[in-house]
Amino acid sequence: MTSDLSFACDCGTVTGTMRGVGPDRGDHVVCHCTDCQDLTHHLGHAERLLDAHGGTALYQTRCANMRLDTGREQLACLHLTDAPTLRWYAACCRTPLFNTFKNGKLPFITILTAACDPAARERLLGPLRGHLFTQDATGDASHLPKMSMVSLMRRFFTRAINDIVSGERRRSALFDAKTLEPIATPHRLTGEERQALEGRRTNAGLDPT
Ligand SMILES: [Zn+2]
Ligand SMILES: [Zn+2]
Repeated sequence: MTSDLSFACDCGTVTGTMRGVGPDRGDHVVCHCTDCQDLTHHLGHAERLLDAHGGTALYQTRCANMRLDTGREQLACLHLTDAPTLRWYAACCRTPLFNTFKNGKLPFITILTAACDPAARERLLGPLRGHLFTQDATGDASHLPKMSMVSLMRRFFTRAINDIVSGERRRSALFDAKTLEPIATPHRLTGEERQALEGRRTNAGLDPT
């Protein structure tokens, strides 16, 4: 079963559709990595977006599946660290929306499922494949079913290679079709912004409340 799933930022300015999604068309996972946690804190939405174990629910699929309907000019992106991951959000209300590679050469898109239509997302995306980076989770995460990086990467590269060979990677709404550069200039976190995130983690470690 595949179908279309709409998404929107909190204020409704940025809207779009994930086309042809389904349990076998992408990977529905929860990521507990420090960067995903930092992202929601940096944008001011951690309380609402992180689950009890600091997890962010994600769906990773082919970049050509995402269609932007409104609010393109509000899309902004940032580099949290030196890692090549680009984090996209709606500048209007600072809703985190997508993760991608730093350019369109390695094609994929990961959407935060919190932005997707709550009435349809569970049904369309299917059950979770598992949890990633549980070693970074908040509290005791030993009971969470894990997804191995090896099986995730195998599925990821199968889709990416197909999109490179077929040229579908040039059909991403987030990258210029010719240059494969991002449509918005990435912001790299300043030293101060990094320090604020590191301070939060240190404090959280000292005082778990
Ligand atoms: Zn918005
Ligand atoms: Zn993550």
